[in-house]
Amino acid sequence: MIVVMKVGSPEAEIARLTEEFTTWGLTPEKIVGKHKVVIGLVGETAAMDPLQIQESSNWIEQVLRVEQPFKRASREYRHGEASEVPVSTPNGVVYIGEHHPIVTVAGPCSVENEEMIIETARRVKAAGAQFLRGGAFKPRTSPYAFQGHGESALGLLAAAREATGLGIITELMDAADLEPLAEVADVIQIGARNMQNFSLLKKVGAQDKPILLKRGMAATIEDWLMAAEYILAAGNPNVILCERGIRTFDRQYARNTLDLSAIPVLRTLTHLPIMIDPSHGTGRAEYVPAMAMASIAAGTDSLMIEVHPNPKKALSDGPQSLTPDAFDELMKQLAIVGKPLGRWTEQRQAIAV
Ligand code: PEP
Ligand code: MN
Repeated sequence: MIVVMKVGSPEAEIARLTEEFTTWGLTPEKIVGKHKVVIGLVGETAAMDPLQIQESSNWIEQVLRVEQPFKRASREYRHGEASEVPVSTPNGVVYIGEHHPIVTVAGPCSVENEEMIIETARRVKAAGAQFLRGGAFKPRTSPYAFQGHGESALGLLAAAREATGLGIITELMDAADLEPLAEVADVIQIGARNMQNFSLLKKVGAQDKPILLKRGMAATIEDWLMAAEYILAAGNPNVILCERGIRTFDRQYARNTLDLSAIPVLRTLTHLPIMIDPSHGTGRAEYVPAMAMASIAAGTDSLMIEVHPNPKKALSDGPQSLTPDAFDELMKQLAIVGKPLGRWTEQRQAIAV
């Protein structure tokens, strides 16, 4: 249920109502939109009469039921307004959301050594990326495949952050690693395989770092939004949804099926920002540029692209990784699509490092 307050509602009245709703056993949440304040009500609202709630104050404009099973994640919960995720990075706050320029995240699948992560960070920054990605803890299908360098790789990410000022995005697989990982990560990634690891979702929901929630490879949009709901319900409002391809019947030519229709679908269902990962979405470097451009045309808020200085030698996901030169070229092409849509701010530095 949401309570839409009239424009100019006094703060004291909003506070009084919030208290009253709490005594009814509900959890009220004040949401300050561009034009209006909305009080979101979560709890046993099914038996409540919206009209009766409306009568509790003359400052209430409307009381509406949220029909979706995901409440806080729904677009209705914010009365149709998009939310933005502010991320603090050494270079300042970067906003990810519908009303902001597209944010680019780039970097290797795994952090392999200091030289490669610093070199990649410098190159992707010069090409205009705002975030460096790189896995320290890797969810691999085979237990015999490279599992990531773990905590020592977090130290290398910290060095890359220090050297470039880029924000860091890295995956958390095990809640036991949360503390050291959150010291380095500006955004914590929850990978496709853990999208429905509900205890992990509750843990990251109970801390402050923004969360990048990747779509499970066989997750419906509703499963995915319900997973986001876990994080929001635990108190963390900063969730970005990342489409990274789903499993379909055909895996012969592309690793996954990148569901770009998720962009307009999510836009209608949720206020949360959207990221597209065409690297895992296709599994092949040569298909990444077309899908990245299409993602911008379809309205994504951000992109995640795997970049490796020597993809042929990569310890994971080499076939889908762009070289730094290819990434630089791609960023020029993305600017051509993003600028006329009003979604591109030039971050490219004239001289590649
Ligand atoms: C990754 O980002 O490298 C990764 C493992 O992603 P996903 O969880 O989408 O497979
Ligand atoms: Mn990868």
